[in-house]
Amino acid sequence: MGYDYLIVGSGLFGAVFAHEMAKEGHSIKVIEKRDHIAGNIYTKEMEGIQVHKYGAHIFHTNNKELWEYVHQFAEFNRYTNSPVANYNGKLYNLPFNMNTFYQLWGTITPAEAQAKIAEQRQVLGNKNPRNLEEQAISLVGTDIYERLIKGYTEKQWGRACKDLPSFIIKRLPVRFTFDNNYFNDRYQGIPIGGYTQIVEKMLDHPNIEVETGVDFFDKKAEYLKSAEKVVFTGMIDQYFDFKFGHLEYRSLRFEESVLDQENYQGNAVVNYTDSDTPYTRIIEHKHFEFGTQPKTVITKEYSSEWAPGAEPYYPINDDKNGALFQKYRHLAQQEEQVIFGGRLGMYQYFDMHMVINASLKAVAREKKERR
Ligand code: FAD
Ligand code: UDP
Repeated sequence: MGYDYLIVGSGLFGAVFAHEMAKEGHSIKVIEKRDHIAGNIYTKEMEGIQVHKYGAHIFHTNNKELWEYVHQFAEFNRYTNSPVANYNGKLYNLPFNMNTFYQLWGTITPAEAQAKIAEQRQVLGNKNPRNLEEQAISLVGTDIYERLIKGYTEKQWGRACKDLPSFIIKRLPVRFTFDNNYFNDRYQGIPIGGYTQIVEKMLDHPNIEVETGVDFFDKKAEYLKSAEKVVFTGMIDQYFDFKFGHLEYRSLRFEESVLDQENYQGNAVVNYTDSDTPYTRIIEHKHFEFGTQPKTVITKEYSSEWAPGAEPYYPINDDKNGALFQKYRHLAQQEEQVIFGGRLGMYQYFDMHMVINASLKAVAREKKERR
């Protein structure tokens, strides 16, 4: 046995685990199949701008301890996410709030906006919402559903809103105040100088060795023998050779351009909520750090169904995949040498603070077991 821990994947889950266990004196090897560390939070400087290479990442949490935890590795700015929706050339503020209601209906007071929504909700009758479409109409009425939700959601998930679970839309705040902050969390910001430094600092320890550009599955048996325990943050179904079949994921394609102009869209995130525009959103990276560079970098984000060979980004949280995941989880529980972690290992849509929390919990369990 060479190492105490072999960590498969250098994303946040693996990096936090490596960092905490290295501090305890354990020897760690991290392997990563991409040619860089940091998983999906990877950022890279282009034209003096930190570019979020795998989609817009805004750190937000209500948990003070987690907020303080990440501050060991970076300083954060005061960025507040307030995306704008572009529906056929007209702009609306997000999340759904008094600004949005005014732009749509000219309503001035919360009572007027509530009355408008109540009137539109009547198309549902008295029944409880059974899917995303009904949930959305029940929350914000038919106009917002048609203009700001339907097209975006169907592009993002590749499924009709009628066939999607309602909880997806419950993540978005609906407010009867003039507040464009996309999140309700107490703490929010962007690490000044990008996210990659966070993982770099986590892995910068004499007990940690890192190798990029290597896939665990090229030498699975050998890797399993190389360490006492393994932390696996890749796809759980792949670990078990897809023996019960494939879990479904959504994949993304990022189309990046450098533009010879200072300011392209005036905001970090603009969502295209109609169904004709093929991409879901355009990110203009410099606005995450209030940049004033002469050029700008933008990324169009296209959503697609995952197929072997593509990157899996979003687990699909429906009943069918949930049941399949439980079968893999059952196998994982019997695999005593291996800890399954992170977004792909646990098949869960985790935000960054949630993945750090899950990794710290795994560390605590591990320390307890070793005592
Ligand atoms: P990952 O970052 O995916 O890391 C897993 C690593 O394992 C990858 O680097 C992968 O290459 C490697 N790996 C996989 N299989 C193998 C193998 N066989 N061999 C070797 N290496 C392997 N969260 C927020 O809090 N705020 C946001 O605004 C936000 N926006 C997001 C936007 C998008 C488009 C996406 C996709 C996610 C977003 N997230 C956001 C979520 C955030 O990216 C995740 O919480 C976090 O990156 C998950 O970390 P992880 O370690 O679980 O997984
Ligand atoms: N959503 C929408 N219109 C928007 C933004 C979001 O209908 O302009 C819906 C969509 O169904 C999406 C969900 O709200 O899947 C959650 O959005 P969020 O931005 O949290 O998605 P993320 O990209 O972070 O998963």
